[in-house]
Amino acid sequence: MYLTPQGKKLVTLIPGDGIGPEVVGSAQRIVEATGAPIEWEVRQAGESVFKQGVPSGVPAETIESIRKTRVVLKGPLGTPVGYGEKSANVTLRKLFETYANIRPVRELPGVTTRFSGEGIDLVVVRENVEDLYAGIEHMQTPGVAQCLKLISAKGCEKIVRLAFEFARSEGRKSVACATKSNIMKLTEGTLKRTFEAIAPEYPEIEAWHVIVDNCAHQLVKRPSQFDVIVTTNMNGDILSDLTSALVGGLGFAPSANIGSEVAIFEAVHGSAPKYAGKNVINPTAVILTAVMMLRHLGEFEAAENIEHAVLVTLESGTLTRDMAGDEGATSTTDYTDAIISNLGRRSAGWTVREHRPMKLPEVSSAPDFVHVNQRRVVGVDLFLESALSAEELGHSLEKAVEDTPVALKMISNRGTKVYTPTGAMTDCVDAWFCRFVPRDGDEMDDQMLFDLLHRVAAAHRWTHVEKLNEFNGQPGFTKAQGED
Ligand code: NAP
Repeated sequence: MYLTPQGKKLVTLIPGDGIGPEVVGSAQRIVEATGAPIEWEVRQAGESVFKQGVPSGVPAETIESIRKTRVVLKGPLGTPVGYGEKSANVTLRKLFETYANIRPVRELPGVTTRFSGEGIDLVVVRENVEDLYAGIEHMQTPGVAQCLKLISAKGCEKIVRLAFEFARSEGRKSVACATKSNIMKLTEGTLKRTFEAIAPEYPEIEAWHVIVDNCAHQLVKRPSQFDVIVTTNMNGDILSDLTSALVGGLGFAPSANIGSEVAIFEAVHGSAPKYAGKNVINPTAVILTAVMMLRHLGEFEAAENIEHAVLVTLESGTLTRDMAGDEGATSTTDYTDAIISNLGRRSAGWTVREHRPMKLPEVSSAPDFVHVNQRRVVGVDLFLESALSAEELGHSLEKAVEDTPVALKMISNRGTKVYTPTGAMTDCVDAWFCRFVPRDGDEMDDQMLFDLLHRVAAAHRWTHVEKLNEFNGQPGFTKAQGED
C-alpha cells in the first residue's frame, strides 16, 4: 500500500472504455462521500491507448503507477475480438500476476429474478493467469489451430489456498472445486489433486469436488448449495457470468483480481459500448467492486457503510434501466446520488457479512521446480501435416523407420486413433499426431529422436514434437481415444 504525504491510501484509477468512466465515476464519488482516506492517481489503458499505437493497450505510465500503488480500481477495457492486439485486461492481470479472480454474487433486495428467495450468496474464485487464457496458440496447419492449456502445480496451489483463505475471511462454510478432470486428467486433474491435498489444512471448511458441467447445472437448479467455488480460468469465466445472471445480471457482479503484490478491482462486465454516455447503466457492480477494494485496504467501516447504503437504496425500489425497464428507471447519476444520501443508514431486513482481513497465501516467487525421483522418456509424439489418408501415412511412416530401434505405435487425428484402423469413423483433417516408441520398450534418447525426425522429414512436413515423459513411473501424457 502506498501512503501519500497526507496519510491517504493511493489507488490507481483507470476509467476504462465505453460505460467505464460513468460507472467508475459513480464508485469514486461514493467512496469519497464515505470520507475514507483514499486518493486517486488516474491513468489510462484500453482502446484509447491501442489507438495511440501502444500494442499492449497498457502504457508505461500506467504500469509505473500500479507498481507504486499496488491497488487499482478500473473500468472495463474494450478488446478487439479475434485479431491483432491482445486483451489489455489480460495483459494487466498477467503483468502483475493477479492469479486469483474473486467474483461474489448475492441476492439483493428489490432485484427480482426467478431465483429470488433462494438466498443466493456465493463466490467464484477463478484462477486468473493460466489455462487456455495463457493465450499460447499455434496454427498446426493452415486449417488446424491449437491452443495450449497450461496448468501448473504452483498455480493450483496458490488458487486453492487463496480460496480457502478467502472462505475463512468471510466465515464461509464450504469450498467446492469445479473441474473437468474426468476428461482432462492431467491439466484439470492437477487442480483437483491439489485441492484434495490442501483441503485437510482447513478442517472447519467442508471441501467437495464437482464436475464443472454438473456445477453449471446445479447452479441453476439449486444455487444455494454453493458457498465458494474454486476453478480453472475458463471454467471460472463461464461459471461467473452464469452466477451473475442468477442475481440480476452483470450490473450486479463485482470482482477482484488478487496477486501477492498487486490487486486490481473491476466489475465482471465489459464496456457495453451501446450504453456509453447515456447515463442509463447500472453502476452497482463497480460500486460493490469498490467495497471489495476498501476491505482489501483495511477500510472495513467505509466498505460496510457503502454495502448497507446500496441495500437501502435497492430496498426503496430505486433501480436502473436493466432492472426497471425504460419506464420508471433511475439514471446512473441519480442512483449514485441516492446511495450517497443513504450512507450511514442500515438495512432492516438485509445483512452484511462480517469480514476479517484475508491472509494471502505465502508462495515463493522463485521458479517452481517439482522434483521427481525417476524420469524417463518413453516415446515421442510427432505432429505432422499431410494430405495422405491414415492408411497411406501409416505405411509411409512405418517404411521410414523400418530397421531402426523406433516403431510407429499409432496415429491419431483430433484425438482419435486412426492407425492402425480401429473401425472408428473419424472425419480426418490434415494434422496428424504420430506416436513413436522404442521397439525394446526402453528409453528413447535424443539421438533416436533426431534420427527419427531426419527420416520423417525426408518425406513429410512435420510441425512439432512432444516427448512422452514418465515421472516416478506415471505416464505424463494421455492416450488417444481408442489407443490400447
Ligand atoms: P459487456 O460489455 O459486459 O455487455 C454485455 C451486456 O451485458 C450489455 O449489452 C448489457 O446487456 C449487460 N451489461 C453489461 N454491463 C452492464 C451494466 N453495468 N449494467 C447493466 N447491464 C450491463 O460485454 P460485451 O458486449 O461482450 O463486451 C463489450 C466490450 O467489453 C468488448 O470489447 C469486451 O472485450 C470488453 N470486456 C471487457 C471486460 C473487462 O474490462 N474486464 C470484461 C468483459 C468484456 P443488455 O444488452 O441486455 O442490456
